[in-house]
Amino acid sequence: MPPVSAAREILRRLHEVMASRSGAEAKLGRVVRIVAEALSSEVASIYLLREGKLELFATQGLAQEAVHVTRLAMGQGLVGVIAARREPLNLAEAQAHPDFAYRPETGEERFHSFAGVPIVRREAAIGVLAVQHAQPREYQEIEIEALQTVAMALSELIHGAGLVDDAEAAAARTASSAPARLAGLKLVDGLARGLAVFHQPRVVIEHTVADDPETERNRVRAGFGKLREAIDGMMGQAEFAGGGDHQDVLETYKMFAYDEGWLRRINEAIETGLTAEAAIDRVQAKTRARMRSIEDPYLRERLTDLDDLANRLLRIVAGQLGAAAQQGLQTEMILIARNLGPAELLEYDRRWLKGVVLEEGSLTSHVTIVARAMGVPMLGRVPELFAQVADGDELIVDAANGALLIRPQAAMIKSYTEMSAAKAKRAERYALLRDAPAVTRDGKRVQIMMNAGLADDAAALDATGADGIGLFRTEFQFLVSATLPRRERQQALYTAVLDAAGPRPVIFRTIDIGGDKTVPYLNGGEDDENPAMGWRALRLALGRSGLMKVQARALLQAAAGRTLNVMFPMVSEPWEFAEARALVEAQAELLGRAGHALPAQVRYGAMIEVPAIIETLDELLPMTDFVSVGTNDLTQFLFAADRANPRLADRYDWLSPAILRVLRRIIRAAAAAGKPATVCGEMGGRPLEALALLALGVEQLSITPAGVGPIKAMVRSIDLGAVSAAMHGWLDAPGTDIRAALGAMAAAQGAELS
Ligand code: PEP
Ligand code: MG
Repeated sequence: MPPVSAAREILRRLHEVMASRSGAEAKLGRVVRIVAEALSSEVASIYLLREGKLELFATQGLAQEAVHVTRLAMGQGLVGVIAARREPLNLAEAQAHPDFAYRPETGEERFHSFAGVPIVRREAAIGVLAVQHAQPREYQEIEIEALQTVAMALSELIHGAGLVDDAEAAAARTASSAPARLAGLKLVDGLARGLAVFHQPRVVIEHTVADDPETERNRVRAGFGKLREAIDGMMGQAEFAGGGDHQDVLETYKMFAYDEGWLRRINEAIETGLTAEAAIDRVQAKTRARMRSIEDPYLRERLTDLDDLANRLLRIVAGQLGAAAQQGLQTEMILIARNLGPAELLEYDRRWLKGVVLEEGSLTSHVTIVARAMGVPMLGRVPELFAQVADGDELIVDAANGALLIRPQAAMIKSYTEMSAAKAKRAERYALLRDAPAVTRDGKRVQIMMNAGLADDAAALDATGADGIGLFRTEFQFLVSATLPRRERQQALYTAVLDAAGPRPVIFRTIDIGGDKTVPYLNGGEDDENPAMGWRALRLALGRSGLMKVQARALLQAAAGRTLNVMFPMVSEPWEFAEARALVEAQAELLGRAGHALPAQVRYGAMIEVPAIIETLDELLPMTDFVSVGTNDLTQFLFAADRANPRLADRYDWLSPAILRVLRRIIRAAAAAGKPATVCGEMGGRPLEALALLALGVEQLSITPAGVGPIKAMVRSIDLGAVSAAMHGWLDAPGTDIRAALGAMAAAQGAELS
């Protein structure tokens, strides 16, 4: 039987079984026979959750004596693994799998191949449907899909018959009610407390089997119409105006909403006998399965967007739009989700949404960008999240420490309350400092600029009182776009940033793509074995000069009548700087000849982040107007230590003589050449490290916006002359533990270092 009609035939027969008057257990017995027959399998079995164990409820092919006797814990054996992970397994040789658990009472030793799918209700596994065969063969994808379809229908039957208690299923998901702490990745900094609310966009599909495909197709078509309308409407909304990064996200959404291929796949699933809801869910499950196997973060992100939209479509078709965001509205809540689309996040009321915790998530994902813009603390990559947290649990999100505290004890709540009060107090203090100049106790003025990369970041200039933007990472716009941003879009962003900055300087760094920042529409160094040292940044930009010319024109036109500060990343040899500068100058000349207004002044800078350029500063500096030290890359290259490798994160100290001496050389060379030198890596955002930089003679730092207040407070509390003299002494005569000595000196001065 061709697989599509096999699935349809199974569904038709299931429909009959479900409509029949026999008892629930008898129905399950009939279902396993239908499944075994339709998939030509010797065994078909249904395990259901009872008293926390997966119990064999019905089987065709295994020993009948095993029914209600064979019981497996969640995570135990292949069946337990399927239920715990809520993912199918498809094995040609079951016994070779490390989780295989032999159950003698079943007589299953003669069966080699095994495939099983979870039976899911309300995000929790309530059972498993499995087939086995004596011949070692892998089941085809289409057969697994047929099993999944049956599992959906079974979930309905089981629930209707009251065979499994939903509450028990939900409880099985939560291992304990004791306090717990889970580690995660800080996606958006902050501290938040609230009750766990599961993002429940998943509509509970009550009916999976449809009588009339035409009706279902019409429902999907109408759903798509509404979805498109909603996206088009959103694009006109105020929070998306201004061509920021949200706009790019929505462009991607629009692309999917109008994707005929997606509609076609849903219609194909309807042809197998499913309802509109079940068909959307079926196609979505496939997307999710693909998502899990894709490593490329960019593609994963696109598929997450598609998943987000599929949820929305499902809610529209099921008539439950808005249900997700309605729940928990009147309580301070922490939103829990596997992953989340930006549009879904925006459905929640900002007044009650205090934090977000994701099982997945990444720093550059769209939802992170949106959460950052909304100022909502967010933690990601918490793998045990769904197993440990239950709906309504009290939670504390401590993003700064990468921690999620679950059901915290009174003592923990007290310390949270103190922490947030102290934070609020510090924030108040920093707000008071906002307009105060960053001057040391002995009268040295320091420029504290901030790093930025998104249109929304510019707002932080006013909030923090930073002196300007010392590093604008222009590649961020490329990273969040589905397609290459055209010149108009680039120019609009640069203009918006310059407008927001007003008289404060902005240093635009030309694209630093490559390394870990890959974009699929710009293929260059994706085959590099060692991307951080590969075809990235200025190398890629000079190699694809068309790209660089477009960016140069966008920058020059955005800065018409004002000062343009442009800086090139990863300059390794002076000729690269010269070539890049000449390219921008040539574009300025072309624009000028075409009658375009030009910047009043263009200043050219080089990033100092590749050690080789330090040996040729005498040649480079005269060609520049300023330099900026990128300590993130400089340290990774100096110590040969990957900056993205967490195991190396604490291995080399920014306050080691190696890095401090190199920095001193750069600063002295720049001062001798009369060129300003900034430091724009993360190092400058830490108070003690920033103090070391100032002691070496750095007069300008560019740091993460959250660091501006604390660093300014530190600057205003120190006597720099004394620290500077000591620092040079330590560097000239090796042997001092500089971190300890500097810390002690700062403490003796009563410096503010938090
Ligand atoms: C650096 O390398 O220190 C830097 C500021 O640039 P990025 O972190 O963007 O590489
Ligand atoms: Mg860098």
